Amino acid sequence: MLVVMGREATEEDIKRVVQAIEARGLAPHLMPGPTRTAIGITGNTEAVESSGLRSLPGVRDLIRVTKPYKLASREMRIDDSTIKLPQTTIGPKNFTIIAGPCSVEDEKTMHKISEYLVERGIRILRAGAFKPRTSPYSFQGKEHSGLKLLEELKKEYGLGITTELMDSTHAEALEEVADLIQIGTRNMQNFTLLKRVGQLNTPVLLKRGMSATLEEWLMAAEYILSGGNMQVAMCERGIRTFADHNRNTLDISVIPPLKRQSHLPVIVDPSHATGYRPYVKPMALASMAAGADGIIVEIHPQPEQASSDGAQSLNFEEFDDLLKFFQKMGPIFGKTID
Ligand code: PEP
Ligand code: MN
Repeated sequence: MLVVMGREATEEDIKRVVQAIEARGLAPHLMPGPTRTAIGITGNTEAVESSGLRSLPGVRDLIRVTKPYKLASREMRIDDSTIKLPQTTIGPKNFTIIAGPCSVEDEKTMHKISEYLVERGIRILRAGAFKPRTSPYSFQGKEHSGLKLLEELKKEYGLGITTELMDSTHAEALEEVADLIQIGTRNMQNFTLLKRVGQLNTPVLLKRGMSATLEEWLMAAEYILSGGNMQVAMCERGIRTFADHNRNTLDISVIPPLKRQSHLPVIVDPSHATGYRPYVKPMALASMAAGADGIIVEIHPQPEQASSDGAQSLNFEEFDDLLKFFQKMGPIFGKTID
């Protein structure tokens, strides 16, 4: 349910509505807009319509949200939401490029990558300290020492950090370092983890589960939003299909319906989607054309030496080439490259 306040509604009117919602044992979610405020209501809202909220001063309308995901829904919020990071804003006007190695690498390599990104004006570095690996025998990430290195890089270069949270017990350590906490594909329906990041103040990049429908993915976002963390970006990274010509099948076609049904920004990961360096650029460019708000892409100065996912990591030359194309395409799609 959504309470739409009139333009003339005062702070006092809004407060009264919030209190009335709470008094009914429901959760109010304030959504201030440029001209008017809306208040989302979650919980068992069945009795709300007949509860007299409509007649409170300043209330213009009471709208039933039909989708099972309420706070993530376009019905609840008509305009696109933006995610404010200290270094940049993810949202409709920008095309945010997040780049870096799959895993946190050794110190020298990480400095090299950071310097390179800063020179190119890229503001967000990606790198996993805790890695979800299919095999227990594969490199599992540098873990806490990796986080520490990311923290140093953030201080030295002013880069924002995207890194994956795999375990609720690491949430506080990650919050210290990350500007955008990644929830990986394999954890999209780890509800304990989703509830935990819902309590944090750090924005979240929610990757789509390998076999998740759009509705399941949005319901996962709803877990985070309903916990009070309204800063969620959706990340399409390819799904499992019968096709075996790519690592996954990049579901570019999910972007328009996602944008129609939700106000949340969308970031595409063309690296995990394709698994193969030559395919990354075309898929990255297609993402912008389909309406994405950015990409998260794996890069490495020497991909063949990467600790993980070297085959899908662009080298610096290839990444430069991709950037050149984005610079040309940005104005056509009304996006500033950031
Ligand atoms: C990653 O981004 O490092 C990663 C493991 O991605 P995904 O969860 O999409 O497989
Ligand atoms: Mn990877």
